[in-house]
Amino acid sequence: MIPVNEPALGERELELVADCVRTGWVSSAGRYLDEFERRWAEYCGVKHGVAVSSGTAALNVAVSCLRLEPGDEVILPSFTIISCAQAVTKHGGLPVLVDCEPDTWCLDVDQVAARITSRTRAVMVVHMYGHPADMDPLRELAERHGLVLIEDAAEAHGAEYKGRRCGGLGDISCFSFYANKIITTGEGGMLLTDDDDWAAHARAYRNLCFRADRRFYHEELGENYRMTNMQAALGVAQLDRVDEIVAHKRAMAVAYTERLRSCEALQLPVEREWARSTFWMYGVVLKDGRRDAADVARMLLERGVQTRPFFLGMHEQPAFHRMGLFVAEAYPVTEMLGRQGLYLPSGTALTEEQVEAVSAAVLDSVAGAARRI
Ligand SMILES: *Cc1c(COP(=O)(O)O)cnc(C)c1O
Repeated sequence: MIPVNEPALGERELELVADCVRTGWVSSAGRYLDEFERRWAEYCGVKHGVAVSSGTAALNVAVSCLRLEPGDEVILPSFTIISCAQAVTKHGGLPVLVDCEPDTWCLDVDQVAARITSRTRAVMVVHMYGHPADMDPLRELAERHGLVLIEDAAEAHGAEYKGRRCGGLGDISCFSFYANKIITTGEGGMLLTDDDDWAAHARAYRNLCFRADRRFYHEELGENYRMTNMQAALGVAQLDRVDEIVAHKRAMAVAYTERLRSCEALQLPVEREWARSTFWMYGVVLKDGRRDAADVARMLLERGVQTRPFFLGMHEQPAFHRMGLFVAEAYPVTEMLGRQGLYLPSGTALTEEQVEAVSAAVLDSVAGAARRI
């Protein structure tokens, strides 16, 4: 079986985690936490890094920085993970959706302006599958309307927009270090910001808003979103590999594209001239709407190839419908991608021979799906 993804772990990771165990620094304080926060913030060109327990937690903390009032709105793409929209609803805000671009799969910046109202407080932008969103026009809109720009860079470690690293382009950015991301801490995340007050709030919020001077006295409610020193030790070891992993993913993308380019039925990932994508996951979209990605995925699995479907739109989630959100809203590009998109094995150990084998299986399965129409 060719797995859809696997982390690159080695002796260095083992050594640093063992050091935590040996020295007893296994909890949510320690030198690896400090080093991981400092070095990841530095890597992205941002002043503060606040490590948390997941990417979802980072998004929750980011939205809590906004101090939303009921009815305040946050604009975000319909095509994304549930963590983005639920961070807004959890904090009493109203998520407002825009569709995504059919080729980069990132939010369609041209649709954002039309959705800005007097209640809009922020735009949450997601760099999809390693490709950066078009940030300059968003920054311009945010400045004109006094909005906070939150970057979800959970899939874009090391990606660049006009030569600048993703995660350093918004007012607050969020990373995940889940096992399938570019670098991993097993589970984990981080919030980055240049703003001193937001960083202080994030540090308090991840630790139940204990007060430094009077521990069990709470002026605000937070969460336990702490990362452990052991996770951070993994992160420190992984940091040294990030450029190598990105280079591997980019080479993988070239190899897949060479082999799949001639297939008329497939839409392949793009890279805008201003973008340096990491191709975190190599996604393909079946162009013919009568073909379902789930069928192709089943055929691939029979041939020993693991895949994953694309995200299903936020407006198609029963959990939100029950809250009265997004009912009868339509985002056609998101709907198409949710049914016709899947991503191929993209792991750090994927070899050129495996790319060859997967590509052959994909071409075969797509042809097989066509015959059944
Ligand atoms: C993975 C991911 C997250 C959530 O990260 P977790 O660490 O799994 O909570 C958030 N946003 C995007 C775009 C992701 O891909």
